[in-house]
Amino acid sequence: MNESYLQQTYPFTLPELPYASNALEPSIDSRTMEIHHGKHHAGYVTKLNSALESTLDLQSKTIRELLLNPRTLPDDVRQSIINNGGGHINHALYWRSMSANAGMEPTGQLFTAINDTFGDFSSFIEKFTEVSILRFGSGWAWLSVEEDGSNMMVHSTANQDSPLSEHRIPILGLDLWEHAYYLNYQNRRNDYIAAWWNVVDWKSVAERFAPLRS
Ligand code: MN
Repeated sequence: MNESYLQQTYPFTLPELPYASNALEPSIDSRTMEIHHGKHHAGYVTKLNSALESTLDLQSKTIRELLLNPRTLPDDVRQSIINNGGGHINHALYWRSMSANAGMEPTGQLFTAINDTFGDFSSFIEKFTEVSILRFGSGWAWLSVEEDGSNMMVHSTANQDSPLSEHRIPILGLDLWEHAYYLNYQNRRNDYIAAWWNVVDWKSVAERFAPLRS
């Protein structure tokens, strides 16, 4: 999945998981994956389509265009598009940010950019982990690039707010909602954050990064 997933338009569909629901065990258990994907993500897709069903002039907009300037959206569907459009595209990235055969470190151009931005790879991990821990309540942690490809940064958004609305392109995303970890980790969100690094698919992150720098 590269940045083309940002070009999808109404009607939106739930993407299939790119691996079996138990593929990320023990970091993320099968039951959590099934509910998270089949219920939570599916719910965002359904509600996003409902919001757009009667808003004909928005149906040809890509998900990126819908989320780029939420202030310009009609009042009656604005918050639903922020919540459910963000919910849809954030999760689409989350599933693709992980895999069973995850490499431990990025390579190539991505590795160089991370080192240039954060000093070294372990400093990046520390920074991302810190931002994740500091997110109060529901939200996300991100590794993003400015939409013109110029800068890389770690940041966080609340609720289902998308980095696209901050004019940033996310290339790696960590879901910090309780529904992402509660069955297995209960209140131990920090343990979920630590375990998540074991399943981060740096190859897919690199595939999203490359076209932004070319
Ligand atoms: Mn989620």
